Amino acid sequence: MKKTIMPVLFVGHGSPINAIEDNAFTRRLKELGGQLPRPQAVLCISAHWETAGTQVLVNETPATIHDFYGFPKQLNEYDYPAPGAVAIAQETIRELKRVQAQATSAWGLDHGAWAILTHLYPKADVPVFQVSLDKDLSMEGHYAIGRLLAPLRAQGVLILGSGNIVHNLGAYDPDTNARPYDWAVTFDDGIKAALQAHDIGLLTDPSRVDQKAARLSLPTEEHYTPLLYVVGASHQDDKLSFPFEGIQNASMSMRMVAFS
Ligand code: ZN
Repeated sequence: MKKTIMPVLFVGHGSPINAIEDNAFTRRLKELGGQLPRPQAVLCISAHWETAGTQVLVNETPATIHDFYGFPKQLNEYDYPAPGAVAIAQETIRELKRVQAQATSAWGLDHGAWAILTHLYPKADVPVFQVSLDKDLSMEGHYAIGRLLAPLRAQGVLILGSGNIVHNLGAYDPDTNARPYDWAVTFDDGIKAALQAHDIGLLTDPSRVDQKAARLSLPTEEHYTPLLYVVGASHQDDKLSFPFEGIQNASMSMRMVAFS
């Protein structure tokens, strides 16, 4: 029987409130959960887990981490009880031998993971683990780790990058449907074009889209770099698609990127 090569997916997660909201973005996530081949496990690279060196979550029952402030009680008490994926996490550590990835149980699922997964797999019945972002790596370094992760796709692993291509909290508008800033549109469009051209040079040096737009779109890099893992894990003959496009809160690109 021919083995399914799992797609790879990047999702812009935006505000944690999306976890409990019903909007065009969350409806699309729900739909995708039914359309994607069913994974053995989800490997999530979240903007919200940065460490010294690369770490891999090896934990049979990862806790739900509430790593945000100022949101309703319902969100602070939210539980996403998906099991961990210990054997696949250990296999991942072997794949990441070159960067000396370390096992840890001192993490759980942060909101970059569960706020998306709760829509993709609402029954929390797909095992999940996370790979951290090494805070000292260059963009090329993040991309290179994505390449090392690619073989896991043939083992039924859904590689899920969770961040935002445009992420400026200082410019955040509380209105979800506020008109996007011009610089946000410029940058989001520029990255879309670079993905279509498979321009790795530009994707790992995104200021080349437009210096000013890049500075405003990415005051910090951690919401962008998960995209590089997804691009790194893509194959040349994959089909690129954007299951969702749009900007929430004027300064959050909710673009989804899929290679399948
Ligand atoms: Zn975030």
